[in-house]
Amino acid sequence: MPIPADGNPFSNIFSDMAKKHAIVIGSGIGGITTAANLAKRGYKVTIFEKNAFPGGRCGCYEKDGHRFDIGATFLMMPGIYEEAFALLGKDMFEEMELFRVDPIYKVKFSNQKQLVFSSDMAFMQKQFEELEKGSFDRFLKLMSRGFHIYDRSMAMINRNYFSPFDISLLKYPFLLFKYKAFHDHYKYISRYFRSEELRAFFTFQNLYLGQNPYSSSGMYTFLPFMELSDGVYFPKGGMHKVAETLLSIAEAYGVRLELKSPVLRIDVEGKRATGVTLKDGSFHPADLIVANADLPYVYRELLPPGRKSKGLERKKYSCAAIVFHWGVDKVYPQLGQHTVFVSDKHRESCKTIFKDNGFAEDPSIYIHSPVRSDLSAAPVKQDSITAIVHTGNLEENREYDWKEITDHARSAILRRFAEEGMDDFEKHIKFEICYTPDSWKKTFNLSRGGTFGSLAHNLLQMGFMRPANYHRKYRNLYFSGGSTQPGSGMPLSILSAKLVTERIDRTYGNPN
Ligand SMILES: Cc1cc2nc3c(=O)[nH]c(=O)nc-3n(C[C@H](O)[C@H](O)[C@H](O)COP(=O)(O)OP(=O)(O)OC[C@H]3O[C@@H](n4cnc5c(N)ncnc54)[C@H](O)[C@@H]3O)c2cc1C
Repeated sequence: MPIPADGNPFSNIFSDMAKKHAIVIGSGIGGITTAANLAKRGYKVTIFEKNAFPGGRCGCYEKDGHRFDIGATFLMMPGIYEEAFALLGKDMFEEMELFRVDPIYKVKFSNQKQLVFSSDMAFMQKQFEELEKGSFDRFLKLMSRGFHIYDRSMAMINRNYFSPFDISLLKYPFLLFKYKAFHDHYKYISRYFRSEELRAFFTFQNLYLGQNPYSSSGMYTFLPFMELSDGVYFPKGGMHKVAETLLSIAEAYGVRLELKSPVLRIDVEGKRATGVTLKDGSFHPADLIVANADLPYVYRELLPPGRKSKGLERKKYSCAAIVFHWGVDKVYPQLGQHTVFVSDKHRESCKTIFKDNGFAEDPSIYIHSPVRSDLSAAPVKQDSITAIVHTGNLEENREYDWKEITDHARSAILRRFAEEGMDDFEKHIKFEICYTPDSWKKTFNLSRGGTFGSLAHNLLQMGFMRPANYHRKYRNLYFSGGSTQPGSGMPLSILSAKLVTERIDRTYGNPN
């Protein structure tokens, strides 16, 4: 046992006894960041994580010198990460080595056309004008529009609303009308560009939020602006480095992480949650609990049945994904760090995924090849390729033949690679790891395998309209992560930790 600074071996024990005990369910990025915030405030914090590894969808997998991020591959909105580190008394750029990824991504179309998204405006102008005359000016107008939407929407979502009569909420409907929130994103972008390539280029980003580019809100016009203005980064060591670094800060503040410790239920009495019972039957009392596991799952499986859970079932869920991780003994120059292959049946494939909840014949594909900025991701002259194919989410009582479905998805990718001159790709695969929608559900308890949510990120389910970060009955039960306020994705899951900590501070005070 380490001797405390005052030299008294018992002082830690007595001070721990006086501390409030917070239990965090799940070690996703939202859970780790909340745990660190609470420990910094003096809480005794234990994280119970069902899996054998921390980080949830920001976890990583290593094999034979190849490293893969299980989920997130883009570090967007770096300011949110920076603030989370700063609130823990740390400088993000000192804690992690970050590379700015520029060009941000390559978007390839099946007619051999390609657009590269870069901060080099002369290059952007050349590309756009070659494709469609006058499009560069319209691109600049679109970016200016994106700036206003981004600025206003961040101001709306980067805070708690402690009262439904909060005056700022009155502004919200005006904002929605002003920024064409009720217009379909694709239709809105079509006013700016005639070329199908440019329309796809400025709307495909919806896919990484798990939503349909053809029917998502016109407000998402801000996504490419945000990527350009704030930059897209990649940490040395992969996206998992963010979880690992925040976890080591949390542990330095005293957080205890218990892996392979699935929570079976949250125990409640009257209007309070009293603690958690693990699958092994052990009970762990707590003064307060923060559930970072998927929120609809927590209401459905960990809490006594209630109306809220039924209401959550009726919400919209994000799409799912089949993800392949391949250790490859070759580096392909055709791929950038982030490459998107837009299918020539993009519209039909989006309809199959989002409207029919199915598996597209000829899907658009996203590829991550991290050795472009981080040579540590694979052995020398090799690569660790991740391919993401979006699919419908899981339906109850439907049988899925995962072998047939994943074989089909793999063939679609190999076919597309062959068109790019990568016809020997299959021969260079050393091994494959595959996540299906069912794996997302089983590994992380994501409702319906909703890989990017689980709750969809549509207009009525984002910001303060997403399920609240506290339980209305059990007043010491809180939520953090991608399925509570303000939204999904790494930055917003990190932001959820700040918001829930502020809420906890209102009840329990902040000694810092
Ligand atoms: C394929 C993919 C690509 C993505 N790409 C990006 C990207 O490029 N950029 C980006 O910003 N975001 C991306 N995301 C989204 C991002 O990864 C997630 O939004 C974020 O990691 C979610 O964090 P979270 O805090 O909600 O927790 P989660 O990652 O959902 O973790 C919750 C944790 O709770 C644990 N848990 C569940 N039930 C229990 C239980 N009963 N007991 C104990 N523990 C439990 C789970 O095992 C898990 O570890 C991607 C996601 C995926 C899957």
